[in-house]
Amino acid sequence: MDTAPRTIIVGAGFAGLAAAVRLADAGRSVVVVEATKAGGGRSRSFHDKVTGREVDNGQHLMMGCYRETLAFLDAIGTPAGDIDLQTNLALTMLKPGGAKVELDCPSLPAPLHLAAGLLRMRGVGVLHRAAALRAGLLLRGEIARPDDNETCDAWLRRLGQTSTIRAAFWEPLIWAVLNDDPLVASAAMLVAVLERAFMASREASSLAVPRRPLSSLYVDRAVARIEARGGEVRFASPARKLELDPEGQVSGLVLKSGERLVADQVITAVPPHVLLELLPDAARDHLVFRDVARLESSPIISLWVTLAEPLLDRPFVGLIGSPLHWLWDRDRLESSAAATKPGNNLLSVTISGARSFVNDQPDALRELLIGELTRFFPDARPTIQAFRVVKEKRATISHAAGTYRRRPETASPIPGLSLAGDWVRTGLPATIESAVQSGHDAAQRVLSPR
Ligand SMILES: Cc1cc2nc3c(=O)[nH]c(=O)nc-3n(C[C@H](O)[C@H](O)[C@H](O)COP(=O)(O)OP(=O)(O)OC[C@H]3O[C@@H](n4cnc5c(N)ncnc54)[C@H](O)[C@@H]3O)c2cc1C
Repeated sequence: MDTAPRTIIVGAGFAGLAAAVRLADAGRSVVVVEATKAGGGRSRSFHDKVTGREVDNGQHLMMGCYRETLAFLDAIGTPAGDIDLQTNLALTMLKPGGAKVELDCPSLPAPLHLAAGLLRMRGVGVLHRAAALRAGLLLRGEIARPDDNETCDAWLRRLGQTSTIRAAFWEPLIWAVLNDDPLVASAAMLVAVLERAFMASREASSLAVPRRPLSSLYVDRAVARIEARGGEVRFASPARKLELDPEGQVSGLVLKSGERLVADQVITAVPPHVLLELLPDAARDHLVFRDVARLESSPIISLWVTLAEPLLDRPFVGLIGSPLHWLWDRDRLESSAAATKPGNNLLSVTISGARSFVNDQPDALRELLIGELTRFFPDARPTIQAFRVVKEKRATISHAAGTYRRRPETASPIPGLSLAGDWVRTGLPATIESAVQSGHDAAQRVLSPR
């Protein structure tokens, strides 16, 4: 048994690594224990034998308003060129048949940039664009804010949004940021994102896309940073149980290997179901953890495809009225030489909130893809060479209306235990930014306990 006082962090995804870097930079002794061999959690990359390429578990998108994430990436020395941050928000959506709807916001101060962008949106009639502007009244406090019980659908109706602007703007945004159906997703969670993205500054709403696979973007660099400051990251070391002393204060952790680690502070940065397994049996009855047990999850399916010829004329597009929400030309995103070279173009496809598809076999998903590509690109007839499905059944918690109160605070009811992870109560939906913020909040709690 090792007896040095220190903080143990369970989980090496965005949340755990952000907490560990913050603590290590503050001179704290940290040990990160991670179940898998490579970490990264739900934001990871791996070498895929089918496509022969380095792929992510799913294409990830960030925004200029991801302040905590950008600070974390900066702290670990990520070169600015590794993230493609738009100067102004610009987005292309395709209608069946291939007609484009384009949002292209001008260089005006927020939120005028969005108002002007919506007003001159191409491919949508003026009445629909004007309807979208009503959301600005809410952001300016002139219309009652939704509470967590109101669904996005009800809120959009209250704001008089037309079905056209819903399909071209709101629904893609909701599926993307809440990973759930607008019929069930919480409008309060959506508004939390709208405020951060559209009210603060023009740059806050710009989209930011990683230019390299996720593990090399942040996992490798964060681990190097922690180790350079004397910390330790132990891969392939799954935690089994938290240990408490007779007063109920955290005293350490037992790994599945049976090894016992002593610590005066533990930060868990794992998904909800793993936290519940780690808790001593008696603690699970606490109301806070009973609420955690009631959180549900929402899946994401990613399809990785190599095509004989590039299909897209830009890095990514959204599809209007399709179960396939986004298509990403990974070669263009990475600006790799393959972007212009025919024969092996890597395309990624995102199906968010994929409950209806999560049990489908790869053949059925391939058929779905071919059908939708034919519908949206009738002239292209793309040739699929390799096809790989990545299903993340627990991609995020479900942000169904009325569920925010089940998310726990950083400070757990167990002294010495802080909770991190994209799903804790950060005020944000479960995203990279929420994960990193939760990690920073947990580190802050260790550094300045109240
Ligand atoms: C396909 C997909 C697409 C997404 N797209 C976006 C996007 O575009 N934008 C965005 O902002 N967010 C996106 N997300 C959400 C984002 O990935 C998550 O919010 C974020 O990765 C969560 O990080 P985390 O550190 O909280 O949790 P995790 O990434 O789940 O990390 C938890 C870590 O704990 C480890 N672990 C589990 N059990 C144990 C144990 N017993 N002992 C030790 N370690 C353990 C796991 O292996 C894992 O490494 C997407 C998610 C998915 C799945």
